[in-house]
Amino acid sequence: MAVGGAADVLRPNTQQQLAQIVDWARAQRRPLTVRGSGCSYGDAACGTTVVDVTGICRIVAFDAISGVIRGETGTTIAQIWQHTVAHGWWPPVVSGTMAPTLGGAAAMNIHGKNAAVAGPIGEHIRAIKVLFVDGSQRELTPADPLFFAVISGFGQLAVILEVELQLKKIHAARLQVWATVARNLDELFTFFEHHATSSDYIVAWLDAFASGAAQGRSLIHTAYHLHAGDETDTATALQVRHQQLPLRLFGIIPKAWMWLALKPFSNAWGMRVVNVARYWSGWLLARDKRYRQSHAAFHFLLDYVPNWKKVYSPGGLIQHQIFVPKQHARQVFAQVLDLQRQHGLVTWLAVVKRHRPDEFLLSHGLDGYSLAQDFAVTASNRKALWQLCHAMDDIVAAAGGKVYFAKDATVRAQTVAQMFGSQRLQQFAQWRQQLDPDGILRSALLERVLDDARSPSPTNLPPAANLV
Ligand SMILES: Cc1cc2nc3c(=O)[nH]c(=O)nc-3n(C[C@H](O)[C@H](O)[C@H](O)COP(=O)(O)OP(=O)(O)OC[C@H]3O[C@@H](n4cnc5c(N)ncnc54)[C@H](O)[C@@H]3O)c2cc1C
Repeated sequence: MAVGGAADVLRPNTQQQLAQIVDWARAQRRPLTVRGSGCSYGDAACGTTVVDVTGICRIVAFDAISGVIRGETGTTIAQIWQHTVAHGWWPPVVSGTMAPTLGGAAAMNIHGKNAAVAGPIGEHIRAIKVLFVDGSQRELTPADPLFFAVISGFGQLAVILEVELQLKKIHAARLQVWATVARNLDELFTFFEHHATSSDYIVAWLDAFASGAAQGRSLIHTAYHLHAGDETDTATALQVRHQQLPLRLFGIIPKAWMWLALKPFSNAWGMRVVNVARYWSGWLLARDKRYRQSHAAFHFLLDYVPNWKKVYSPGGLIQHQIFVPKQHARQVFAQVLDLQRQHGLVTWLAVVKRHRPDEFLLSHGLDGYSLAQDFAVTASNRKALWQLCHAMDDIVAAAGGKVYFAKDATVRAQTVAQMFGSQRLQQFAQWRQQLDPDGILRSALLERVLDDARSPSPTNLPPAANLV
């Protein structure tokens, strides 16, 4: 395991049980970490006492006319699209996996491949019902400044009980996808600047092993929503069974086995081969190819390979996603890719997206680009990898960029202060002081990134069985 540790885990099934757990934690001065599906790559949902809210997952309401859906915190993105797609509604923002919960998605203010045009998920949330540590509950809407702090506040201000989301109307069962390649960083950024806001979705997979004139070579996918009438079988193809990801690759190999096929490549040379093969197969087969793909197939690529994390066993992986203002992005990307080569620690999987700024207090959004990078962790590379991430963070911070707390395991408090600025961090600390003076809601991430995060002294832990 790359980060995290042993914890007492409580698993409520109702909002009432969750409220009882919060009451108990307050009375006992017991630090509590709220956890959704645990999809965050770092320590955001790690702590010594964890409340796993995935059992609280009812869809409370859905209006098929307006496309407004309300779900309990543990409702997953999978549940939402499967509930609504046949009615012509799709989640406005989705991550690369459909596993995250509504609460986790809101707490991290997740983004999708449409970040440049749709912003983060918070911009599509109409209301959240929250539970404060003092036991009170409130409905927060964008009219309330606290709404903008709880969303992006990584579970440190309040427990989210329900989320009300405006879905996106879709008129077709498929997206029009355009695959193309960029031969280097210059071509990559030129393409993004031309297409990021005129397409509905855009994402690039970058071969970080390529250097010199080929540095930054990438396979880019842009996608566009179709209009009504662009396909003939919309009503049928929108049925969930037609949107589901196939259970077998090429109709033969069970998806569940795919990680085994990748396992022999789980070393630097193997991943170099995978990256080269992916780029050149893209160049030969997919360059300037246009095709149609179901919404689920386009968005949830990683769900094609269940158990893909096992490729990184036994040490696990960390992901490190940097966000850089657009005017510095080309230079910073080149610097961090060079740095990885110098350290002999090149990311195995790198993904580029375009973003825009937003109003959320601790948001990662900015007018620029992100580079998400997966790194295998081993006993022998761990120290050097953390040093590499710190060095990359220094470059990003100097360029006015940020990291994303859902995809971070290494950033230090002083760098976070530089990235997010004292004003925002003070505002966050004030909310915490006001809403949770004893600092009950906390995670390993909070203690790592905020200098003033102090742990209360807990009294004895009662048997978890009494609580759930
Ligand atoms: C394969 C993969 C692809 C991904 N792709 C993307 C992507 O494209 N874009 C993106 O933005 N992210 C992406 N992510 C990250 C993921 O979307 C976020 O980490 C998201 O927050 C995970 O939701 P979760 O339910 O798993 O929450 P967890 O990881 O369990 O928790 C995340 C945070 O939310 C807090 N939290 C959870 N529930 C509550 C609650 N009820 N009240 C208050 N706080 C709560 C936790 O304390 C924690 O701080 C990806 C992750 C994976 C594994």
